[in-house]
Amino acid sequence: MVTLKKPPEIEKMKRAGAVVADVLNLMRDVIKPGIDTLSLDSAAEDLISRESASASFKGYRVRGIDTPFPGSICVSINDEVVHGIPSKDRFLEDGDIVSIDVGAMVEGYHGDAACTYPVGDSVSRERGLLMETTREALHIGMSQASPGHTLGDIGHAIEKWVLGRGCGIVRDYAGHGIGRKMHEAPQVPNHGKAGSGMVLRAGLTFCIEPMVMSGAEPVRSASNGWTVLTKDGSDAAHFEHTLLITADGVMILTPWE
Ligand code: MG
Repeated sequence: MVTLKKPPEIEKMKRAGAVVADVLNLMRDVIKPGIDTLSLDSAAEDLISRESASASFKGYRVRGIDTPFPGSICVSINDEVVHGIPSKDRFLEDGDIVSIDVGAMVEGYHGDAACTYPVGDSVSRERGLLMETTREALHIGMSQASPGHTLGDIGHAIEKWVLGRGCGIVRDYAGHGIGRKMHEAPQVPNHGKAGSGMVLRAGLTFCIEPMVMSGAEPVRSASNGWTVLTKDGSDAAHFEHTLLITADGVMILTPWE
């Protein structure tokens, strides 16, 4: 069921979103060649608890995976699309790209956002273009997010942009409604037909999160059950905001940019 949020709920979501934004801004300083990905997780967790929030992903369970998600954030490197597990044995290297996905909860309400970062100074032009294409895909999706537009308008605009740039779109995973639960109705696909699907209304809170590959589908799951990778080994990037449909447009609730 899709729930439209009332002003007191939106206030809590703004606070949760501000924590998420702070973590993503902190990551800009923490990410560097040689650091292990569990250290990123610890830095995020420290900040989340200092701000009296809790990490939405920690202990998250989904049907079909036996173990709950162990990290406070998802850290996905290069060909990993989403849901990478932080580890003290996994190190960032100069030239990598790393996607950080963060969820935080304040007074029972969630915020959720993601960003892909370059590691060091020698990231290839191709990886740079992939990140730029994905970030722009998020903004193109957001440009369709206003009352009267549909979910299909958002997906269609994202898909058209990404394919036009010669990249692949991940269709097996989608954005989502958010609020009291991190994942609520509706699903917000990164592909679709203009004019189709649910009509957007003021008070809807949801995440747009294009996942883009330099190659093509399909994607596969790692043996840990969580991590999603490109099957062809191509690189992937992921950008996400939690958004609120307002009376005349859209408001970003996770203002990390
Ligand atoms: Mg999300």
